[in-house]
Amino acid sequence: MGSTQEAKFSFKRLLSRAALLVAAFGAGAGMADGYVRIVLGGKTLHWSDPNIDWQLNTESFSGLDSVGVSDAADRAFATWNQISKSAINFQRGADTAAADYSKSSHLVYLDSDNSSGFFPNGSGTVAITPIIYSTSDGRMIDVDIIFNGKDFDFALHAGGNDFDLQDVMTHEIGHMIGLDHSPVHGSSMWPYVAPGQWLHRSLTQDDISGGIAAAKIGGIAVLKGKLHDFEGENLQGGGVGLIRADDGRLAATGISNANGNWVVKGIPAGQYYVYAFPIEGYMTAANFTSDSAVKTDFGVEFYGGFGNPYQITATQGDTTDCGTLQVARDGAVQDVFRHAQLIAQGETKAVTVFGSNLQANNTTLIDFSNQILLGSSTSTSSMVSTMASVGSNCPVGSYDLFLELANGELEVVPGAIEVVAAAPKVTSLNLSNGDISGGDEVIVEGENFVDGAYVIVGGREAQATQFIHSTRIGFTTPASDGGVADVIVQNPDGQEATLIDAFQYSAIPRYADLFPRAGYRGGGTELRVIGSGFTSGMSVEIDGTTSTPTVHSSTFFTVIAPPASRTGSVDIVLVSADQVRTSYADIYTYVNTPDPRIESFTPESGKKNGGTEVNLYGDNLGGSVRVRFGVDPVTAQGGQFAGGVELAANSKLTMTTPSNPVGSYGVVVELPNGQGAIANSTFQFEGSLSAGGGCGGVATGQSGGKPSDWLAFVILIGGWYLLQRPKFRHQSV
Ligand SMILES: [Zn+2]
Repeated sequence: MGSTQEAKFSFKRLLSRAALLVAAFGAGAGMADGYVRIVLGGKTLHWSDPNIDWQLNTESFSGLDSVGVSDAADRAFATWNQISKSAINFQRGADTAAADYSKSSHLVYLDSDNSSGFFPNGSGTVAITPIIYSTSDGRMIDVDIIFNGKDFDFALHAGGNDFDLQDVMTHEIGHMIGLDHSPVHGSSMWPYVAPGQWLHRSLTQDDISGGIAAAKIGGIAVLKGKLHDFEGENLQGGGVGLIRADDGRLAATGISNANGNWVVKGIPAGQYYVYAFPIEGYMTAANFTSDSAVKTDFGVEFYGGFGNPYQITATQGDTTDCGTLQVARDGAVQDVFRHAQLIAQGETKAVTVFGSNLQANNTTLIDFSNQILLGSSTSTSSMVSTMASVGSNCPVGSYDLFLELANGELEVVPGAIEVVAAAPKVTSLNLSNGDISGGDEVIVEGENFVDGAYVIVGGREAQATQFIHSTRIGFTTPASDGGVADVIVQNPDGQEATLIDAFQYSAIPRYADLFPRAGYRGGGTELRVIGSGFTSGMSVEIDGTTSTPTVHSSTFFTVIAPPASRTGSVDIVLVSADQVRTSYADIYTYVNTPDPRIESFTPESGKKNGGTEVNLYGDNLGGSVRVRFGVDPVTAQGGQFAGGVELAANSKLTMTTPSNPVGSYGVVVELPNGQGAIANSTFQFEGSLSAGGGCGGVATGQSGGKPSDWLAFVILIGGWYLLQRPKFRHQSV
């Protein structure tokens, strides 16, 4: 990838009493050192209300699934909302089509044509967070996040050649709460990002302390102190690192102000080794949005000295003053370490620090963890290398590497090693296809799953994710536009595993009801089927014989029943266009008698209150016929039953209409065995004519039974009409 330019873009504009600045995320690899808050003109940027509304312009991310973009943004904001002891609370507002950062709403959008002006050719800036703040008190007024779609591509997954949207967004949100870039290599606020990177999705302790410092809740642990240069003058812009004495992890970094004072808030309570370091190397003062001076002409020094550093206690709800530290003289050595070296628990990896003015064969790498064993160091004047073996119980987090030269110089790469948990693996799903409407229950099998992991199907987050075990997660599929989808398990630390093309989405036809429920074994009966997921490519198997239905809509098709070799109930299988079969047992019955038919009826209209006498003519009407008025003339569903049905002859019925809402409806006859017919013409229910004095409002409480009621009723009294509850089977080929 040619994306190794550094982000050097800085932009400042005064807007009356407010000022605009930008915090940019550059592409490439780098060097430097914890959490730093943005300070401008001596004012620390902050929100007066930690409840911060934001809005997403999903459509601006053209080429990416808008649901997936939305889900990735939710994960990124949730990451910052979840910091305990931080009051920061992002609240998502309605999605918007706005793409103008100068408006007061806090927008997240992609700029594909540099309409923002922040992405001139060669800027190398992947994304930017313009901030409008009050110059009088540092209060943030408007903050937006803009992705550079002109020069870079973004993806809804890690590991590829594009920038992971969630990874980059998590970083930018850090700026949104007022954090500057951090010199901790493995932190989310490290100023550089590489394509495919996932590391910034989760926060290091340094980022977490920054989130607490931005808006704390309750008592927190604070360390403070003062830096003096070698002449005893206050040292401004010196970096300060805090190493946990118990396990050697880097907790947080800070930076000294104009008086040499430094303060780091929101660290875990415990014992710390504290050191000062120059912010130079791959990250420099140029990476800061803050406008304060950064001094780098000094060397690394510990409170108490490198050989025997003090253990300083940080107490919850208290501030510990570490006193004044005089830093060492400036050395010649510099590192150019770009990205943190990721090493999994239990893994051994080479670590190489490149730089300048190292001592060949006399530079040694040192760390503070007793669970990271470093082999002997090999060095030239421009690099030092060793093998790092990380214990399987080594706590995850950032670890510093110190470079000690035989001439006494000391250099540090803050957070050079990022110890991570074992990566997840995905091996299989128990179900490999489902409906585009989502909701299918699936179990994903694999390794190293962690409670809180996300399951992402086709870029969209699965619902009802249930962590069962480190090898199993249950979830229900999100809705899809169709096609084959990758399934990703993303652990809370941001690591993910993908099962490519693991799940096939189909429009799966599903049955709800049909009319009639029985037909002549000689075939030719037109079945009217209602349900969902019907598409033009589907087919229907009736007792094993395949027919092509006429699909009228996604919820209605008609099909002509083929001749049968036997009588009795049969299965109907609905086969999706891509051959997913769903079988419904015994929902249709072949009988020996010819189907009934409606020739005509008269009259063809009557009052909505019912009571109209109707003569109906047809064939094969038989005894015990039921007649339904007010039915849907297309699907034959719905309607009310006529009263007083009598067979006047084999081809004539008489009856009295039920009450029914005004309108034109179909008429249906049904035989006790399930055979039936729908009339070609419709019966019009008419409103009551106005009769002087107006008495049309007498409600009689007539309740014509619905077909299902009738079925239940008939079972009760006659037992000749079986209520056929479809049995659902779902299979795939
Ligand atoms: Zn940034």
